[in-house]
Amino acid sequence: MLYPWQESQWQNIRQQMKQQRLPHALILTGASGLGKLSLANHIAATVLCESNQNQEICGRCHSCQLFIAGSHPDHNLIQPEEAGKQIKIEQIRQLKDKQELTPTVAKWKTVIISPAENMNINANNSLLKLLEEPQKNTVLILISAKPEQLPITILSRCQKVSLSPPPKENAIHWLQQQSAVAKQADDILPLLKLAKGAPLAVLNMLETDLINKLQQLDDDFESLLQGQANPVLLAKDWLHYDLLMVFNYLQHNIKTRILKIQEQDSNCDSAQYWTIYDCIIATIKLISSSNNINKTLLIEQFMVSVIKRDLNKTSVLNR
Ligand SMILES: [Zn+2]
Repeated sequence: MLYPWQESQWQNIRQQMKQQRLPHALILTGASGLGKLSLANHIAATVLCESNQNQEICGRCHSCQLFIAGSHPDHNLIQPEEAGKQIKIEQIRQLKDKQELTPTVAKWKTVIISPAENMNINANNSLLKLLEEPQKNTVLILISAKPEQLPITILSRCQKVSLSPPPKENAIHWLQQQSAVAKQADDILPLLKLAKGAPLAVLNMLETDLINKLQQLDDDFESLLQGQANPVLLAKDWLHYDLLMVFNYLQHNIKTRILKIQEQDSNCDSAQYWTIYDCIIATIKLISSSNNINKTLLIEQFMVSVIKRDLNKTSVLNR
């Protein structure tokens, strides 16, 4: 499936297919919630389609049917065995063995690796060999929201296709058409900010009743600020959320509080909020930079630093 905000990237790729100069390796980058995997699937399905007239999927041929059913023998999707875990060298080695075989149904072979930054060092090295000696009629598509975590040796061998969020008016319009929960633009806008403009992330928020969860997060945060929450118990609840979303939301929450204090009383001390703000930024950095963090410990540490901030100034926080 193609999303409207992927149109220009798709047309470029389509043009390259038409001129038979599609590179053997691509990397699709951009924030999560922009549909990178959908675009990768669309590219792979088009490459494999037997009819493929004018670089469009026919949807009817044997290849298309197999692809739709998720059982195309010439297509491989490499993902971590468990969400959030590493992609291991064995997975890339198996891929290498398969790549050396000739395609069975289609004329081409396609591979999607997602998320590519989850490959460990050995997997990266193994993939590098594959990229250095490309097989004929093979298209390899890497997907990454954090390409900076990939070795430059891999990045330099892939054509980069960057996806960016659509203008907010377009995103709102698209969401209003999609969501079963019809929402006013005013309701969607804060969610869109929270999702850094990624429409599919907002759709997920709307479908999973995230608005109520955010209300709960507000209450939790308030009780932390008041020193009334138990970090160990609360951390268990927060583990069920998307942590990056939680801390992006808290960053937004604390900014609003600081602005409010500054508007109400310019002499008032907002230093404690800035301390918490720094903790939030540090936590976001940790979450973004590593796939192997102890999430429980990270949340507990954050909660303890919120509770333990300068207690003499609690009166300011209670305003
Ligand atoms: Zn087809």
